[in-house]
Order: sequence, then C-alpha cells, then structure tokens
Amino acid sequence: MMHPHSMSGQTVGILGLGVSGMAAARALAGVGAHLWLHDDSITPDQLPAGAQRADWQAWPWDRMDAMVISPGIPHHLPAPHPAAARAAQAGIEIISEVEIALRARPAARLVVVTGTNGKSTTTALLGHCLSTAGIPVAVGGNIGDAACNLQDPGRDGVIVLEMSSYQLETTPALRADIAVLLNITPDHLDRHGGMTGYVAAKARALAAVGADGLAVIGAGDTHVRALADGLRQRSADHADAPGLAVITPDQAPSAVHNCAALAGSHNAENAAAVAICLRHLGCSEDAIDAGISSFAGLPHRLQPVTGTATVTFVNDSKATNGVAAARALTAFEKIFWIAGGAAKEDGLGPAAAVTDAVQKAYLIGAAAEDFAAALDGRCPVTLCGDLETATETAFADASAATAGGHGNATILLSPAAASFDQFPNFAARGALFASIAHRLVAAAPATISGGAHA
Ligand code: ADP
Repeated sequence: MMHPHSMSGQTVGILGLGVSGMAAARALAGVGAHLWLHDDSITPDQLPAGAQRADWQAWPWDRMDAMVISPGIPHHLPAPHPAAARAAQAGIEIISEVEIALRARPAARLVVVTGTNGKSTTTALLGHCLSTAGIPVAVGGNIGDAACNLQDPGRDGVIVLEMSSYQLETTPALRADIAVLLNITPDHLDRHGGMTGYVAAKARALAAVGADGLAVIGAGDTHVRALADGLRQRSADHADAPGLAVITPDQAPSAVHNCAALAGSHNAENAAAVAICLRHLGCSEDAIDAGISSFAGLPHRLQPVTGTATVTFVNDSKATNGVAAARALTAFEKIFWIAGGAAKEDGLGPAAAVTDAVQKAYLIGAAAEDFAAALDGRCPVTLCGDLETATETAFADASAATAGGHGNATILLSPAAASFDQFPNFAARGALFASIAHRLVAAAPATISGGAHA
C-alpha cells in the first residue's frame, strides 16, 4: 500500500466508495488523515479507522483540504456531481486516487500508459515483460489494482500505471519517466465537453514527462500526430523537453508473430510501444522477445475462447467503440460478426468500412437498427435482439458455411458499443458469450466438434 505522508492530519472527503475510493481511504487512513466518505448508492462493509460515512452535505466544508473523486463521477462536465460543485465553489482541490498514491512519492520509475484503445493490453504486456526480465514491477491504476494498493517496487523497479482521461484530469502531481500515448479517437466526449477537452486530458500524460524522460506517441491519428509535432517544437525551443519516440507497427519485435494473444496490426502497435519502453528502461532485445512471445493476453480482448474443428469463437467484448472493432475485423478472414449494444457518439465509426471479411453481422441491443442501417449494402445483417440468439444463429451459419472442408470461420463478438443496455459491464457480456460458445461446442455433433481450440 502507498503511504502519502504529506497528507497526514488533513481532512479529506472521498466521493465514490468503489474500488479506487476505498483504496484511497485506506491509504489516507494509514497516514492519519481525517476522512469523510460518501457514495450515492454503495455502502461499504467496513470503514478504515478514522473514516466516517456521512452525506456530502454534512461534511466539514470549512476545513476540508481535498476531495478524492472516483473516475466514474463527473467533477466538471456534463454536469458536476453536487459535491464536486460544492468543492469547486469552496476552492477545495478535487483529486484522483492516483494522485493520493503519487503523493506517497514512490521511489520506482513510473511509466504511464494512456490512449483511447489499447491501454490495458499495453500496460499488461509491459508489466509482463518487465517481470519476465527480472525487473521488480507493480502494475495497476485503471487496470487491476488501484494505484494506492500497489507496493512500491523501489529504486530499481518500475510502476506501470494505466490512466484514463478522467484520472489524468485530476492527478496534478503526475511526474512520469515514460508516458505512452497510443491513440486518440472520439470517446467519452460528454465528460470532456468535446474533442478539444478530451485531447487536452490525454496530453497531460505527455506534460508529466521531464527532460530525462521519454514520450512514446502513436502515429495513427491526427490528434496524436499533432501532439508529437508540438513536442518536437518544444524540444527545438526548450532544453527541458523530453525525448520523443513515435510508435509504428514495424517497430514491433518479430516475437509478436509468435504470440497468439497479440493478433492484429493494433497489437503490433501496442507491442512496438512496449518494446520502446523496455529499451529505454535498459532491457536487452532477448529479454524483450522472451517477454512478448510468452504473453498470455487479457480476457475479452480478441480472446479465442473455444471452437470446433472449423469454427473459432473469439471474445472481443472490450471493443466498446467502432475503432477497436474495426481493428478486430481486419484480424481474421471469414467472420461471423456479433455487434451492438449502447452505441458511442460516432456509432459504428470506422468499423462500417472494413467489412470485407464479414460474412454476416448479427446485431443485438439498443444499437441494432442503427448499425443495420450503417451496414446496409456492405454486408448481410440480421437483427437478433440478444447475445444468445446472435451466438446460436452465427454458430449455425458458420458451421454450415465451413462444412465439407470449406475452410475455417471466426465467430467474433466485437460489439463496437458499450454493454450497459443489456449487461452490467463488458466482462459480463464476454463471459456470457464464452459460456454460450462452450455450450454450443459441447452439443455439436462429433463430426464437427473436433475438440476445443482454447
Ligand atoms: P483499453 O484499456 O484502452 O480499453 P484494451 O487493451 O482493453 O484497451 O483493448 C480494448 C479494445 O481495443 C479491444 O477490443 C482491443 O482489441 C482493441 N485495441 C487494443 N489495442 C488497440 C490499438 N492500439 N488501437 C485500436 N484498438 C485497439
């Protein structure tokens, strides 16, 4: 756990008592802060010592030093939570749980990973490679453990933090040795007041890198290219600008081709970013290759779950926007595509234009009709309503299409939409897909089942 001693004795409000809020509460309680906790719905089982649960209206606003806000709660746009509005009015700083962790001044070098898509894969891959190279590492933030729960791996170690745009906006103490900014495409625009605000939030990761550090920036969209240009200009004008490395997929070590979990050009970009970081941190090429080829992947990201002799089920439930789904649609050849859910601002976005491999789209959830309209004339579609119907129908079609030695097919759940219309989260959606797939494979006639391809 992190120990933010500089906050000892301070009075701090904690708004949002999920995983990160409670991690901040425990870290602050550990250094003797006075804590006031509020959540609109969650009641925690246990409060840390020195913490009181009270409606935010009853907090001691006249002597509060800071308010920690959960990333899911708006502090500014589209409308601030009333407690955030009260804090802003009283001039009380609103900070993230990551800020609390960094105020503990961990000795390890810090790598921050952000971007619209690929953060978790890149963070997990970097953590895995450091660990296989024998470098002490702690991985967390927006993935896995909250930052406050991490153990500082010390001066010879590395902390790898995945950070969302919300966390970047509320972490003023951020100072990184390396910042990785993979890509920026429209997402969460309501929380940032549009693209300019979203780009500005992501750019904070780059601003956190000092003169000895390295900014690792993607090249795949106009926003990241403009930020790289800005950094080049800054280095021309100022000696204190960090180094710049631009990510291109051809920089991915060839080991990426040995790793089934890193299929697709997007994962080549993620692996390239990781290799750049590892070189900067002093790893050898052999160690980089060993780490990348042994990466097991993350669930719900292009994850092969099961299959018959000719049909593989791939769970890409984490593809909650059209950019991510577009990458999945170019990673396989004969695709029976399950999509739909709660659509993002740009609907299918670029996914509508990369349907060459799609045999048919099986559409579910709130976005189904809009997605069908966007795919009109591009590929056959069928409205399935729910995931179960879509998976069963896709399996029947894929089995028929590959019967009698007609090649292999992929049933791809890559929804291009959030899950909240039908599921609690993307993981529940992916888990249901996997369980339906296992049931269908188990019930398939022996002539086509051919065993699982997990
Ligand atoms: P994040 O944590 O940013 O949501 P993940 O690694 O969890 O990213 O991947 C989310 C989705 O985006 C998955 O469908 C994955 O296949 C896709 N994806 C991963 N890396 C990239 C990338 N560099 N560019 C575009 N899409 C990506």
